Amino acid sequence: MTRDLILCPRCNSEYTDYYHVQTFDRTEDAQSGVHTSVVNSVVTVDGIMTGNPSPRRHGVRLAFMCETCADVFTVAIYQHKGNTFIDTNYEATS
Ligand SMILES: [Zn+2]
Repeated sequence: MTRDLILCPRCNSEYTDYYHVQTFDRTEDAQSGVHTSVVNSVVTVDGIMTGNPSPRRHGVRLAFMCETCADVFTVAIYQHKGNTFIDTNYEATS
């Protein structure tokens, strides 16, 4: 097992919270599938693939907020052409 700490990409703070979890499940190249969203203890399920980090397959997107600078960033895990990738995207709020 390996364990890495997720740091804020803006200020390198070790204190981050995830607040929105989304999963996207679909067969290859399908326009719709199963999308789940959990935020503020509310679960929604639909077939909308907007926001899926994978252009063709499954994906997971986690939205984080930094406790130090309050900025938001996302971590995405997704499949593409037989590989699985992990990306971090920083979305400056200030
Ligand atoms: Zn920060």
